[in-house]
Amino acid sequence: MKKIIYWFRGDLRLIDNPAFVTACLDSEALLPIYIHHPRNKADTKWGFSKKGSYSQQFLQESILDLKKQLLEKGSDLLEFSGLPEEIIPELIKILGDADVYCQAIEAPEENSDVNLLNKQNVTVKQLWQSSMLDPKDLPFALEQMPDMFTAFRQKIENAKLKFAKPVLPPSTIPPLPDELNQINQNQNLNNLRIDNKKEITVNAADNAELIFEGGETAASLHIEQYFERRLPDTYKQTRNQLLGMDYSTKFSPWLAHGCSSARSIAQRLSQYEKQHGANESTYWIWFELLWRDYFSFLPFKYGKKLFYRTGLTDQLIGKLNVSQFNQWINGQTKDSFINAAMTELSSTGFMSNRMRQIVASYWIYDMGGDWRAGAAWFESQLIDYDVYSNQGNWLYIAGRGTDPRGGRPFNVGKQMRDHDPDGAYRKHWL
Ligand SMILES: Cc1cc2nc3c(=O)[nH]c(=O)nc-3n(C[C@H](O)[C@H](O)[C@H](O)COP(=O)(O)OP(=O)(O)OC[C@H]3O[C@@H](n4cnc5c(N)ncnc54)[C@H](O)[C@@H]3O)c2cc1C
Repeated sequence: MKKIIYWFRGDLRLIDNPAFVTACLDSEALLPIYIHHPRNKADTKWGFSKKGSYSQQFLQESILDLKKQLLEKGSDLLEFSGLPEEIIPELIKILGDADVYCQAIEAPEENSDVNLLNKQNVTVKQLWQSSMLDPKDLPFALEQMPDMFTAFRQKIENAKLKFAKPVLPPSTIPPLPDELNQINQNQNLNNLRIDNKKEITVNAADNAELIFEGGETAASLHIEQYFERRLPDTYKQTRNQLLGMDYSTKFSPWLAHGCSSARSIAQRLSQYEKQHGANESTYWIWFELLWRDYFSFLPFKYGKKLFYRTGLTDQLIGKLNVSQFNQWINGQTKDSFINAAMTELSSTGFMSNRMRQIVASYWIYDMGGDWRAGAAWFESQLIDYDVYSNQGNWLYIAGRGTDPRGGRPFNVGKQMRDHDPDGAYRKHWL
């Protein structure tokens, strides 16, 4: 009997999850699992936890929603806490023999998890499913992708490349393996069943206007409402605003946890354009999703170099001034605009794209800070932390990525006059 362990990672969904569908088709018994890696609970070298409470809560909600869906389909989701290289071999020992299927993640920590399994002769079948466009449809090999975003976009647009159709959820899920009781009773496995799981609850600040609930069910609802309310019509005009839920799509937290796929969103956007007509704003949502793809493809060309402290350059890094860093993260700098944004981030786990650019620039260019500490703080705080988008955007602003302009310093005073002329944003958060 062919047994497969399906290892959910950043793909907490059933719709458009080709790796999961393949696992269902290839197996006679299927064990869906999620592993909480200890590194996500540990402190970073910068002295704060790698994952803050907002993203942990969103993750828990997403896992619970997935588990509920799997239970309804006669399956389940087993949650473990520990190292994948210890838990998965232990599971395989109990199952007798099993292959592992999962989503491919092109980032050092996640690649190392898989390498450690391969070293123990565990077969891990990984499928890339994080982008809107399928890498094999691109008009260039990923290793030769254009460095500049504009050239990347133009090649794709000239080739009239479309996203591949999202994959339907599996019609049936193979039964759980017979060894389920042995797994549940195994003392070596830190099996987090609902009854012994510590729930994480955080209450967003009273002045938080953003409501994010994790899970595929909430994702579908949010995305549908965004389109039904005709918000795409005005996206380009509103996307640089700073307050409220409606100025941008707010798809990112669900995309980051894989509760929805970029292809499903692209398909909905395409339907919307057919129904209501395309305009500059609907095009701009594609444009932004293409930025997301661009950053997710860069690791195929540059690999680990993207994670070097110097990025793709040989420029030196400034020393970390701890007291200045604390001012920045706690919203206690000399600049009230920056302070408002940093307060928003630590109170909600979210910040607009415009403010992310401004605070990152302020940390790097006005405070002379180490970009890696800024990126790590974002990773800890953001409810939508995504390894490719966070690393890519920080490298871009710090001038250590592929941008030939070599860095993007923002004039904070000008940005404030342009985007918060009446001080409403500062008043809201300070
Ligand atoms: C320093 C910095 C760090 C960032 N870190 C992250 C991160 O960890 N996770 C993350 O998802 N985004 C990150 N971004 C990109 C961007 O700020 C967010 O994707 C966006 O603000 C999310 O809000 P939204 O869903 O309403 O976006 P919208 O403006 O509605 O855009 C629609 C979608 O397009 C994608 N997108 C938009 N802008 C970008 C961009 N600049 N780069 C990549 N994708 C983009 C996102 O998936 C987004 O959901 C970062 C940007 C900066 C400047």
